[in-house]
Amino acid sequence: AQSKALLVLENFIGGKFIPCSSYIDSYNPSTGAVYCKVPDSGKEEVEAAVKAAKDAFPIWSSKSPLERSQILNKLADLIEHDLEEFAQAESKDQGKTITFARTVDIPRAAYNFRFFASSILHHVTECTEMATMGCVHYTSRTPVGVAGLISPWNLPLYLLTWKIAPAIACGNTVVAKPSEMTSVTAWMMCKLLEKAGVPHGVVNIVFGTGAKAGEALVCHPDVPLISFTGSTLTAQRITEKSAPHCKRLSLELGGKNPAIIFDDADLSQCIPTTLRSSFANQGEICLCTSRIFVQRGIYSEFLKRFVAEAKKWKTGNPSDPTVDVGALISKEHLEKVRNYVKKAQAEGARVLCGEGVDALDLPPGNQKGYFMLPTVIAEVKDESCCMQEEIFGPVTCVVAFDTEEEVIKRANGVKYGLAATVWSSNVGRVHRVAHRLQSGLVWTNCWLVRDLNLPFGGMKASGIGREGAKDSYEFFTEVKTITIKH
Ligand code: NAD
Repeated sequence: AQSKALLVLENFIGGKFIPCSSYIDSYNPSTGAVYCKVPDSGKEEVEAAVKAAKDAFPIWSSKSPLERSQILNKLADLIEHDLEEFAQAESKDQGKTITFARTVDIPRAAYNFRFFASSILHHVTECTEMATMGCVHYTSRTPVGVAGLISPWNLPLYLLTWKIAPAIACGNTVVAKPSEMTSVTAWMMCKLLEKAGVPHGVVNIVFGTGAKAGEALVCHPDVPLISFTGSTLTAQRITEKSAPHCKRLSLELGGKNPAIIFDDADLSQCIPTTLRSSFANQGEICLCTSRIFVQRGIYSEFLKRFVAEAKKWKTGNPSDPTVDVGALISKEHLEKVRNYVKKAQAEGARVLCGEGVDALDLPPGNQKGYFMLPTVIAEVKDESCCMQEEIFGPVTCVVAFDTEEEVIKRANGVKYGLAATVWSSNVGRVHRVAHRLQSGLVWTNCWLVRDLNLPFGGMKASGIGREGAKDSYEFFTEVKTITIKH
C-alpha cells in the first residue's frame, strides 16, 4: 500500500514519458520519509535521450529566433500559471520554505524562459571593413548541437531552467540531468513542454545519479558541450572525463563568500541583508555569505545585533509560511554541516547561537527532518576549515579586521572566488575594494540583486566561464568569421 502512495518519476525522452528499470529513493527532507522514486538511469537511457535530441536538432535549429522566442514565452506563462503547484513541490522535495519557493525559485524559473525569449531577439554579430583589401568581414553564430546540462539540488528548477532556456533559445537541443535528490519539478515541467509548443526531442530529461547518468552524458561523444552547476570536486571529474572529447565546458561551482563591513556601514541595512545572505535557503546558495569581516570599531555592536536577529529566524515546517529556515537537503549533508560547527568548537571558536547552543523546537511531524538552527561562530582563525571550506548550510563566521589592505588580503585568502559583499558609505573605498577582490560578483551595500544581462560566474575554484545574456549566447553558439571580397 505504501508504494502506491509514492510519487514515481519517469524519464522524458523524445516527447514521451518512459519508465525506467530501476529507481532511487528520494526523501522529503522535512520528515525524513521516502516519498518519491527517481529513475536510476544509465548509459542506455542517456543514449536514447541523445538520439532524440540529435533527431530534433535539424528542425529546431532551423526555426527563426522569433519562433523559438514565442515558444519560450508560452512555457514561461504555463509555469507561472502553475506557480503554486510548482512551489509546493519544490518545497517538499528540497526542504526549502514554501515562501522561498513561491517568491524566488519558481518566479525565477519562469523568468529565465522569458528573459532568454527576449534576449535572443537582440543579439548583433560583429562586422569589420578592410577597405584597402576590398573586404568585409562578419561573424555568424549557429547553435552547436546537443547540449548536456547538469544541475544541483539547492535551487532545482531555477538553475535547470537557467541552462535550458539559453540552450534552446539559441537553437540547440538538450539532454538535462537534474540532481537525483531534487528531480520532481523538472519532471513536472516536462508535462508542459508539448502545450508550450516545444517539439518532441528538443528537451529531454534523464533522471539519475551523477556517477551513472551524469557521467554517461559527460562521456557521450555526440554531446559537444556541457553546462554544469555543482561542486568543485565534481567539476574536476567532469573536466577529466570530457577531456578526451575536447568538450566545451561551462562550470559554475562553489564559493566561500566574504562580507566586508566597514565602520561607516549603515547597519540598519547591513544587518538584515547579511542575515539573509548567510541563512536564506538554509545557507544552501552558492552565493551565501559565510565569512563576515567586521571592522574592529563596530565589531561588538555588530555581533550583538546580528546574533539577536539570527535568533529570531524561525526554523521549522517548510510549508508553514511564517517559517524562515526549512530543512537541509539530506541526513548526510546535515551531519556534514554539524561537523563543521564541532570542529570550530574544538579549535577554540565561540558558537554564539544555533547548533549546540539553542534548542530546536520542531512540530511532531518534523522530528525526523534534517533541521538546524541558524548558527553564528566568532573567533575563528582564518586557516580553520570553517573559514576555508564551503559549508553550504546555515552557518556563518564573524571575525574582526583593522585595515582595508588587511581585509582585502584575508578576503582573497581562500581557493574560491564567487561572490563578495562590501558595506561602506564611502564610494571611493567601495570601488577600490571591489576592484581588488578576487570574485566574479561583488555586491556593495546589497546582496543578490541580479541583472541577468550581465556575466554571472566565479573566479579561481568557483568556476570557468560565465552565464548571462551575452555569455550564455556565446557559450551555446559556435562562431564563424566570414570574409567577402568585392
Ligand atoms: P554536486 O557536484 O554533488 O552535484 C551536482 C550535479 O552533478 C548533480 O546533478 C549530480 O548528480 C551531478 N554529478 C555528480 N557527480 C557527477 C559526475 N561524476 N559526472 C556528472 N555529473 C555528476 O553538487 P550538489 O551537492 O548537487 O550542489 C551543491 C554545490 O553546487 C555547491 O558546491 C554549490 O556551491 C554549487 N552551486 C554553484 C552554483 C553557481 O552558480 N556557482 C549554484 C548553485 C550551487
